[in-house]
Amino acid sequence: MTVLPHLSPADTVHNLTQRYVDALKASQYQGEIEVSYASRMAVATDNSIYQRIPQAVLFPKSVDDLAIIAKTGNDFDDITFSARGGGTGTNGQSLTPGLVIDTSRHMQEILELNIEQQWVRVQCGVIKDVLNDYLRPHGYFFSPDLSTSNRATIGGMINTDASGQGSLVYGKTSDHILELSSVTASGEVLHTKPISIESAKALATENTDYAKILQQVLLTCVGKRQDILAKFPRLNRFLTGYDLEHAYNETANSIDVSRLLAGSEGSLAFIGEAKLNITKIPKHTALVNIKYNDFESALRHAPSMIAANATSVETVDSRVLNLARADIVWHSVSSLIEDVPNKVIDGLNMVEYNNDDEDAIKLKIKTLSERLDAEIANEQSGVIAYQITYDTSEIKKIYAMRKKAVGLLGKTKGNKKPIAFAEDTAVPPEKLADFIMEFRALLDSHQLEYGMFGHVDAGVLHVRPALDLYDEEQEKLVKTISDQVVALVAKYGGLMWGEHGKGYRSEYAPAFFGETLYDEICKVKAAFDPLNKMNPGKICTPYASDAKLVQVDSLKRATFDRQIPVQFREAFSPAMSCNGNGLCFNYDTTSPMCPSSKITSDRRHSPKGRAGLIREWLLQLHKHGVRTEELSYKSFKSGIFSKLFSRSRHADDFSHEVFEAMNGCLACKSCTNQCPVNVDVPDFRSKFLAIYYTRYQRPIKDYFVANVERLAPLLAKLPRLANLFLNMSFVKYALREWVGYVDAPELSYPPLKTRMSALSSEYDYEALARLSAEEKSQHVLIVQDPFTSFYDAESVDSTLKFIKALGMTPVLLPFSPNGKPQHVKGFLQAFEKTARTTSRFLSRIANLDIPMIGVDASLVLCYRDEYKKVLQPENTNFSVMTLSEWLISLPDERLVHKPKSASQSYHLFAHCSEKTALPSSESDWQTLFTKFGLTLNIIPVGCCGMAGTYGHETEHLENSIGIYNLSWRSKVAKYRAESVLATGYSCRSQVKRLADFKPQHPIEVLASHLTSLK
Ligand SMILES: Cc1cc2nc3c(=O)[nH]c(=O)nc-3n(C[C@H](O)[C@H](O)[C@H](O)COP(=O)(O)OP(=O)(O)OC[C@H]3O[C@@H](n4cnc5c(N)ncnc54)[C@H](O)[C@@H]3O)c2cc1C
Ligand code: SF4
Ligand code: SF4
Repeated sequence: MTVLPHLSPADTVHNLTQRYVDALKASQYQGEIEVSYASRMAVATDNSIYQRIPQAVLFPKSVDDLAIIAKTGNDFDDITFSARGGGTGTNGQSLTPGLVIDTSRHMQEILELNIEQQWVRVQCGVIKDVLNDYLRPHGYFFSPDLSTSNRATIGGMINTDASGQGSLVYGKTSDHILELSSVTASGEVLHTKPISIESAKALATENTDYAKILQQVLLTCVGKRQDILAKFPRLNRFLTGYDLEHAYNETANSIDVSRLLAGSEGSLAFIGEAKLNITKIPKHTALVNIKYNDFESALRHAPSMIAANATSVETVDSRVLNLARADIVWHSVSSLIEDVPNKVIDGLNMVEYNNDDEDAIKLKIKTLSERLDAEIANEQSGVIAYQITYDTSEIKKIYAMRKKAVGLLGKTKGNKKPIAFAEDTAVPPEKLADFIMEFRALLDSHQLEYGMFGHVDAGVLHVRPALDLYDEEQEKLVKTISDQVVALVAKYGGLMWGEHGKGYRSEYAPAFFGETLYDEICKVKAAFDPLNKMNPGKICTPYASDAKLVQVDSLKRATFDRQIPVQFREAFSPAMSCNGNGLCFNYDTTSPMCPSSKITSDRRHSPKGRAGLIREWLLQLHKHGVRTEELSYKSFKSGIFSKLFSRSRHADDFSHEVFEAMNGCLACKSCTNQCPVNVDVPDFRSKFLAIYYTRYQRPIKDYFVANVERLAPLLAKLPRLANLFLNMSFVKYALREWVGYVDAPELSYPPLKTRMSALSSEYDYEALARLSAEEKSQHVLIVQDPFTSFYDAESVDSTLKFIKALGMTPVLLPFSPNGKPQHVKGFLQAFEKTARTTSRFLSRIANLDIPMIGVDASLVLCYRDEYKKVLQPENTNFSVMTLSEWLISLPDERLVHKPKSASQSYHLFAHCSEKTALPSSESDWQTLFTKFGLTLNIIPVGCCGMAGTYGHETEHLENSIGIYNLSWRSKVAKYRAESVLATGYSCRSQVKRLADFKPQHPIEVLASHLTSLK
């Protein structure tokens, strides 16, 4: 047994940074400044293999703030800046040991829209999908696409010159920039747009940064025009960043400095605002999913689709397809990519056609179909089948699956993980198939596993070979293979960065640009940023300086991770497996992922942030001498006296920062199922809390929450008295102020015990065991949970009534605590005990071979997940079904049908744990309602903000209400109270306190409907 040490990371904020921060605080700067270790760690990674802990994180609110940040830096030569948006870069572009300027928190305003002239002006932190949600009602969209569109920012897109699906038609981000407002390293605000060469020459004579930049542009882009044209082929993806070719428009005789800024990865200036052109949404779209018997066939077939004027052709290989099949996402696309009888789909091309003219599109599809039919009949081109859809929502689902592909590739067991380092090659599209065959041979020669997908129309291939970076020998392969791939793409006339940018592979930039032009881009860098303060080391260095480029072999995340002892990594494995792709930053309020991240806009409070903090905490434990065989609460101990005073004595312990991030988590489990690699925060959160509280004293509230399953049955014996007591104002005050608990729910009256006597048969194990198989098939066992049984007896009562009305016999099992509240609060010892007892109880009952069902799905799911993690598999040999799972399994003749004319409409607000763990649960309820002649509409909502007891905790009340306001409030208000149905007990409680009515559980509607028919 050891005492959890006080953790003080060695990487502290330097004196210089502190002085800079003090100067910034004394200025007119309006944004936030964070220097805590946790804040710095939260931006120390992106989706790459690298990790850099910055000195501080600044969150500006405006262009003025950006200018103040830079100007304040003029007195501190060694202070450097790296701008950051969504942090989704794949090559460490935004990582820095300097200061991070995170524009994603505040600079999210859409400033101006001009439909007539087809442009929009935005702040740089606006998320691409947010912009498109805003433009959609006007019939427009910002057309460059990218897989990370639900979290990547416009600033990030501009600085990587992002593009993706449809780029042949819609181009890259740089093709849509009309004007930029940016800030140079010295703090000058630039407004750049195309200007005539005469104006450029006149402006170049002034004494400003812009003048120096224009002087250089005239020398380089105009003066070296022939070298530039000779060096770069005129292809879709051939110059991203420092676009020397397009900064000078020979035809218009104009200069556009924005063209240099696009793709410059923050190495020239901060982009503050952008005026972007927008594109009309095509009126009609069709998608043809063509299935092939091998991936090579899919690749070789693609060019003819492009020749047939498809808007885009995307491809995925069998590995990606199979991973998608095993993921929650498949549920949404399975009917659009159906299996082909007696064939294996080993490659898929998604061919899109867009047009305002419906007939034109139909004609194209007809021609394509005839050709595909012939190829299938003649067994040509490897085509085995195809499916067509014109439905935009279905097309969206297919692309969502494709966009999730990278994340899915990360879903591998063991230490080998698919990593980004040669993930973004581009070659002329007609050479892609040959290139890929050779690329495959290269990867095969290193015996690596990989999945592939990409934009075949633009010759862009995405591949992430799986490497075990804990192994230093395998880490060396990153450089070896990168060098080989650089040579391979050169052979095919291609390049290493199709759309993801350069970042830590900037060391290849000199060779890519060639000596002459590399010198020129260094001169451009020197004109913008002579002191190398802007994202130093990325792309190029100021001309004639001795500054160095960052290297592929720079410090990697694995360098830190591999220092963490294996048993620590294993105990907290979900935190280790996060690959930083940022899907958990999803802005969409109707998506359950991740409510705490959405409400705080603080990366520490996202699954990625939490995973990163836990990794660092594990490393710090090791560095502070923790040597245990097993990393669990069992290995730590502190005396009660020491616990009581620890907090004040160790106020700056890094464990407190980790605790803050864990404490903000709702334990809603959306990450567990929605993160592509299933980063299960509630799992490592409870382990962390259990260890943390061996050193620090718990708040009383935690004991209150963890014991709710003991308290509730006692209080339910005298419910009216208990409710009277709980409603007394001094009790409420004491609970709120001293315990930290608000709006304690009332116990059900009449209690379940009184309500059910006539409905449920007595539980008698021996009698049930004696039943014949036929009699058993008429019985159903109800597993009680503390919330519905004691606080929401109506829902249990309705379940019993419904089962009875079906002609079956419900048996209410004796209450046996579930333990979830203990798990959530990190009382792991108590949870293990509860789980063991209840498991023993349910395992014995499982021998009866009668279905067991639970009314609240989130508690049922605890048996499947948390129980399995703490108990041996043989001790969890029982199965409890959710209500919808059981009902949908019943034969139709068991369920009563009602003619359609009796149809009534209801609205389903499903519990987020339930719908993310059981993706068919919403549609199952819908199907069940249809069977009874009722209509159930699924309402897309995120989390309700209650999540068990989170919303009852005083410290979380504000965020709980805020989360409810994100998606529930307006949607609940939209429908008649009687028609609003919620499957979660928590959700019903939240609506009750915030909308003043208690929604019904769907089973209550079905029960009253069925009994009314009898
Ligand atoms: C799973 C996955 C799929 C991807 N798919 C695509 C794809 O299809 N197409 C594609 O193009 N990319 C793709 N990317 C790469 C990445 O999402 C893009 O590069 C994106 O444009 C980055 O945006 P961001 O807001 O996350 O920027 P960040 O990663 O935060 O930053 C990217 C670069 O821009 C700079 N920067 C950010 N904001 C500013 C600013 N205001 N001023 C100056 N510099 C700034 C940063 O310093 C950094 O150099 C993918 C990444 C992942 C993880
Ligand atoms: S937690 Fe999951 S979704 Fe979030 S960054 Fe990590 S891997 Fe991606
Ligand atoms: S459990 Fe919910 S709140 Fe916590 S990290 Fe996961 S998604 Fe976010």
